[in-house]
Amino acid sequence: MRRIIGKINPEDKNVHIWGAGFSGLILGYYLKDQGYNITIHEKSNRVGGKIQTKKSGTGLVEKAANALYLNQDGLDLLRELKLEPLPASKKLKRFIMLNGKPKRPFQFGLFSKAARNVYKKPPLVTDGLTVADFFRPLMGEENLKNYISPVLGGIYAVPAEQLHFKSIFPQVGKKAQFDSYWSFFKMMFSDYKAKPKLEIGGTISFDGGMQTLINRLAEVLKNDIKLNSKDHLKLRGNTIICTDAINAAELLKEYRPELSAELSRIQYRELSSTTIFLKREIKSLSKSFGVLIPKDNGYHSIGILNNKAIFPSNNENVTTYTLISPKNLTKDEVIQDLSLLNPEITIQDVDHIETTYWDKGLPIYDLHLFLSVKKMHQLAIKETNLAIFGNYVAGISLREMITAAKNFSRNPLDYSEN
Ligand SMILES: Cc1cc2nc3c(=O)[nH]c(=O)nc-3n(C[C@H](O)[C@H](O)[C@H](O)COP(=O)(O)OP(=O)(O)OC[C@H]3O[C@@H](n4cnc5c(N)ncnc54)[C@H](O)[C@@H]3O)c2cc1C
Repeated sequence: MRRIIGKINPEDKNVHIWGAGFSGLILGYYLKDQGYNITIHEKSNRVGGKIQTKKSGTGLVEKAANALYLNQDGLDLLRELKLEPLPASKKLKRFIMLNGKPKRPFQFGLFSKAARNVYKKPPLVTDGLTVADFFRPLMGEENLKNYISPVLGGIYAVPAEQLHFKSIFPQVGKKAQFDSYWSFFKMMFSDYKAKPKLEIGGTISFDGGMQTLINRLAEVLKNDIKLNSKDHLKLRGNTIICTDAINAAELLKEYRPELSAELSRIQYRELSSTTIFLKREIKSLSKSFGVLIPKDNGYHSIGILNNKAIFPSNNENVTTYTLISPKNLTKDEVIQDLSLLNPEITIQDVDHIETTYWDKGLPIYDLHLFLSVKKMHQLAIKETNLAIFGNYVAGISLREMITAAKNFSRNPLDYSEN
């Protein structure tokens, strides 16, 4: 269920939100728009949480999200905020590292294997089913490792063996058995076709990077945010927790021990993001979004973004790449990865390099998370003025968070999806 956990009382117009990351800001924005008086308590000295665009002397460094994938709610939001989207360059190639080279993902071998099995009956969709379990009979172990894992890893940062099927494909709803893989793909396709065509769609950022969106939300909420907040949580009036799950567990330990116990079961993936400015281009990545890297390929990274190709106007006169890794990368490891793509690259080619590391980077969308969120929805049915939100609740991407926050602000009591 892609819904914020819990409820607030719409009769009480005062709402206290804890955390000014994207979830707290976007929910604060929509609730304010609905006439609520918002106070956002942020423990650090800045808003935006993991999202931060730094203007280094050399160029822009996006620390976490580098883009927003637009849906109708996202587009409406930008119009309301009077923000001009900066669309990603069109027609960029998307590569996966195969046999040591960046290649287009749709290879003949993959198609022929999948085509042979497409009328097979997939496994029953149970709570315990992983993405790997579902796709293995269709495409085999090797293709799972080389295609499905890196593609989903580019979003969730964990392999298909860990990803919980129903969480990643919520479109399946309550359906337990597909007649064939073909009927699964047909359902996915008709779901996609049913979505309204957008005037501007796809991947976007902003002039000045993602910080522009954060700054605009902060501007709208400027009188409602308390930075460096040392306030103690009191469950008086409407309260919404918008921190990561670990801090949410801590905040609710005293007042809601059952919810707190579920929150502390949610596992996180360590992650780093390194932006490097080089004196020379990596030819094999030119005119591409970048490359996704299957595991056991000798790389330290799971993906490399070609920033200049994606958003040229934000990266004028620089050659810049961002490496996402499931560990804290050293400078040598960054160079090792890049020299696998272009053996001529050495430390002498580096103009500037910047790594941001989180020991708890992204929540792992596994069975634990699914069961804990499900249990929290059940426990929260009896809550009247407490809600919980963040990227572990209703989707990891900003797009999903925008839709969840908008729906909740208009209908904070609606639990009809249950
Ligand atoms: C490397 C990386 C790349 C990504 N790329 C994309 C992308 O391209 N597109 C996309 O859509 N998504 C992307 N994401 C995902 C997206 O950035 C995150 O899901 C989102 O920013 C998380 O927002 P949040 O508010 O849930 O959490 P956070 O950003 O973690 O914010 C939580 C906030 O709560 C505050 N806080 C914590 N404890 C307390 C407390 N006790 N009291 C008060 N405040 C507290 C924190 O200081 C912080 O400000 C990426 C994520 C990462 C890590």
